[in-house]
Amino acid sequence: MDITYICTHCVEKYETYFCPADAKRLHYRCPFCDRELVPYTPWIIERRGSSR
Ligand SMILES: [Zn+2]
Repeated sequence: MDITYICTHCVEKYETYFCPADAKRLHYRCPFCDRELVPYTPWIIERRGSSR
């Protein structure tokens, strides 16, 4: 999967992951809460994974 943009507010509920094409089509706005989508970078995964 090639995920590039997420909405951090809805990702827990709706799994708001978007590929670049989708993000562009949505004008970089979340369809659920209308907030700005943010680039999905590896440190987000690392942060969520390493909670010790
Ligand atoms: Zn959202």
